[in-house]
Amino acid sequence: MNKFEQLGLNESLLKAILDLGFENPSEVQEKAIPLLLEKDTDMVALAQTGTGKTAAFGFPLIQKIDADNRNTQALVLSPTRELCLQITNELKNYSKYEKGINVVAVYGGASITEQAREVKRGAQIIVATPGRMQDMINRGLVNIKNIDYCVLDEADEMLNMGFYDDIVSILSDTPDEKSTWLFSATMPQEVARIAKQFMSDPLEITVGTKNSGSSTVSHEFYLVNARDRYEALKRLADANPDIFSVVFCRTKRDTQAIAEKLIEDGYSAAALHGDLSQAQRDGVMKSFRGRQIQMLVATDVAARGIDVDNVTHVVNYQLPDEIETYNHRSGRTGRAGKLGTSIVIVTKSELRKISSIERIIKQKFEEKSIPSGIEICEIQLLHLANKIKDTEVDHEIDNYLPAINNVLEDLSKEELIKKMVSVEFNRFIAYYKKNRDISVSGGERRERGDSEPREFSNNGAVRYFVNIGSRDNFDWMSLKDYLKETLDLGRDDIFKVDVKEGFSFFNTDPQHTDKVMDVLNNVQLEGRRINVEISKNDGGGRRDHNNRGGRRDSGRREGNFAPRREGGFRSDRNSSRDGGSREGGFRGDRNSSSRREGGFRSSAPRGENGGSDRAPRRSENFGDNSRPRRSRRD
Ligand code: ADP
Ligand code: MG
Repeated sequence: MNKFEQLGLNESLLKAILDLGFENPSEVQEKAIPLLLEKDTDMVALAQTGTGKTAAFGFPLIQKIDADNRNTQALVLSPTRELCLQITNELKNYSKYEKGINVVAVYGGASITEQAREVKRGAQIIVATPGRMQDMINRGLVNIKNIDYCVLDEADEMLNMGFYDDIVSILSDTPDEKSTWLFSATMPQEVARIAKQFMSDPLEITVGTKNSGSSTVSHEFYLVNARDRYEALKRLADANPDIFSVVFCRTKRDTQAIAEKLIEDGYSAAALHGDLSQAQRDGVMKSFRGRQIQMLVATDVAARGIDVDNVTHVVNYQLPDEIETYNHRSGRTGRAGKLGTSIVIVTKSELRKISSIERIIKQKFEEKSIPSGIEICEIQLLHLANKIKDTEVDHEIDNYLPAINNVLEDLSKEELIKKMVSVEFNRFIAYYKKNRDISVSGGERRERGDSEPREFSNNGAVRYFVNIGSRDNFDWMSLKDYLKETLDLGRDDIFKVDVKEGFSFFNTDPQHTDKVMDVLNNVQLEGRRINVEISKNDGGGRRDHNNRGGRRDSGRREGNFAPRREGGFRSDRNSSRDGGSREGGFRGDRNSSSRREGGFRSSAPRGENGGSDRAPRRSENFGDNSRPRRSRRD
């Protein structure tokens, strides 16, 4: 007997569940389903987004509906058209082996007469948005006076969106004896008020901590000046070549404007907001699901209920007015057990909101600084190198090779690599060369007594690069712990830990440098030698620590394809910030197929050995096979 059978679900549902591929019930399903099946009761169920709430009410609802009776027996209210359609679709899937159950979606922006006709044909379950439902009631197109069940799905969202009056009015049109099931990710006061007003003695189910965000999501904020918001967004995108994100703006106008700017700058972006026609919105969502769009710029309302897996980042371009909304934004990533990052671009005056959000999500934010041009160049270069390495060769090309070889035959392998990478990369360097550092230090956070004051200043610190990262199952906290233990250093001795997929950066004070270099370069992680070196990007550009042991050797770099940094193109404050933006977009890199193929799959982002006691090796970045590789592809 599988776990779903134990919950008391009938044959036809179990069969449908088998088709859905659900193996085990989620926690909220395990808790809610038996209770709802057992008796007619009111229920309040709190669970984060992505925890399977639809099935938690959907399975029992289908089982309880009388298929032989064609009257409307259940009403599901949900905040948006998208969710409404999604739920309808799910309910249809659940009931596919149950003859005679009709589920009808009722939502704005589509023909009301058509929807009324469908309802009239017999809809035991109506899934509706509050606005359209109210409209249908007013026009006498539906009858919900005899329903047995009313589900308020994503109740907090509906109330956030200002549907309080509609909900109250709709509920007063339903019989008192019905059962009301309220599902919500959070329990703000308004939701509690609805529960109190319209429910009697509800059973309460809570999954995880109340109000907490999903633990698969890590939260970061980047402090910038208001005028640098957009530049910051671009840099974050550039620093994450594989980004697949929802970018939230506060207004439709900003949403449209930011999307347009991104497109102009060569990013695969699109806007999603309420001023678009239904067809346009559907088109955008289709492209997003199909990964033709890497950055979906959206308003809160339009993005509600977006259920797209594998979103890597949620970007709060602007924080929402209602702090509660933050949870819903960040819930767009970290779904289905995947890890996700929720980023906030924040100005000093908004900083206190971060603390309020931390209290709500019961998770700490990590303050990070906007990557410098150098850091981005580094990341993009490695991305490019990996892309070259992973590119599959179409043998059509063989026909042209003799001619190509003819042109290139005088170049050594090193020269060839350098030139090839430069084809793509010169634009990048040209762009970031002109760009200043836009990080702002976060004095306020420090005054608030946060644990890591030094995160905010790189003064005097040494920045390291190490060839382990998230693919080795590290996040910044676990890497910090690991380094602390391995190096026998105190918690505050290691800071500014920044974990990328195949590598990471961290800082220490200079007095620990010898220890870091000696110890770390001689340890192994699961059989792989750790390679640490001092990053020429010292994290703040204030000092040059790279002369230790003669490691700063530009000749060594020549063998690789790292940009030449001696020119110091970090803080050229006089150059025009926007001058290079068109070049800065890395157009060629942004189609979906290359994004999927890309990533830091090579386990050794730099092929050289930075240990002070070893001679630097050269030009190993391409096809460095010297280290075991994990084949992770996601
Ligand atoms: P919520 O309403 O809590 O945000 P959903 O009901 O939309 O979550 O479910 C999120 C995703 O998880 C959906 O893709 C759904 O198909 C899937 N899902 C739900 N229950 C299960 C289960 N028991 N096993 C596997 N996947 C599930
Ligand atoms: Mg839901």
